[in-house]
Amino acid sequence: HAKSGGRNVLSFFDAKMQQVIARQSQLEQDLRRALEEGQFELFYQPQVDMQDRMQGAEALIRWRHPERGLVSPDDFIPLAEQSGLIIPIGLWVLESACLQLARWADNPQLSGLSLSVNVSSCQFSHPAFVEQVLALMDRYEVCPQRLKLELTESLVLDNAEEVVSRMHVLKEYGIGLSLDDFGTGYSSLSYLKHLPLDQLKIDRSFVSDLFTDPTDLVIVRAMLALGRSLGICVIAEGVETVDQRNLLASSGCLSYQGYLFSQPLPLTQFEQLACRPACLVVD
Ligand code: C2E
Ligand code: MG
Ligand code: MG
Ligand code: MG
Repeated sequence: HAKSGGRNVLSFFDAKMQQVIARQSQLEQDLRRALEEGQFELFYQPQVDMQDRMQGAEALIRWRHPERGLVSPDDFIPLAEQSGLIIPIGLWVLESACLQLARWADNPQLSGLSLSVNVSSCQFSHPAFVEQVLALMDRYEVCPQRLKLELTESLVLDNAEEVVSRMHVLKEYGIGLSLDDFGTGYSSLSYLKHLPLDQLKIDRSFVSDLFTDPTDLVIVRAMLALGRSLGICVIAEGVETVDQRNLLASSGCLSYQGYLFSQPLPLTQFEQLACRPACLVVD
């Protein structure tokens, strides 16, 4: 009796597992097709100084799914990373970003903008990565100072020799390096001084609790002090209220990104916003 019950339980899990695997491989197939059929799109979220002057944007991928509508990256980037599809998808993102920077270079209202691109750890660790970035910069004649790569703390935490030397090569070419979601990875702070970083991005979880969790204000101020003493710019992400922005500003933060100024926007809307007379682009 017990035996057959056990078998039933097993076959139940088996069936569940099969469902999960089937759904994953379907999604994987869909991702492959999305790449071939051009279903990916970049949205642009402005990065501004404390006077709301635009400094640049972060490129954020979206998937315009024929049935499911606009799919957010949290719903497909993890699988893209697991399956290795992040390599071609990431390359598409980089190429689209370079193309955009090249187009903006011809417009005096947009030519001062920088563009930040998210790079997955496995993408950065791929042997061809640096070569591919440099080839794209070359092909689109992009000014390297305009491009920023957002790296994750987990990548940098590893502190692998190869990763660090790759960062130095990119830095030598003038490409900006930013540490995304700073503070979430329990980084040991001492290694930061060995890394050629241009920017730290304070994770939005610290910003959202700035007024409710006194520890977060202390941590944010420590991050700002660290950035100052290492000569690394600090930007706060996820700023949603005027109070958050003002507290950050009075704590010495110089730039932010968040719904308060704007959500991530489709290209034409972003360009309209950047070209508003009141929205001066600062170099
Ligand atoms: P991230 O790089 O930390 O990007 C910031 C995320 O915060 C974005 O979510 C953005 O829409 C959201 N956000 C911005 N301002 C606010 C705010 O004021 N409040 C709140 N609650 N959220 C805000 P999104 O676009 O859904 O992207 C999620 C994550 O997906 C990104 O986090 C990034 O890790 C990843 N991602 C996006 N695009 C790419 C890409 O092209 N390549 C890779 N590898 N990852 C990407
Ligand atoms: Mg990012
Ligand atoms: Mg982030
Ligand atoms: Mg994040």
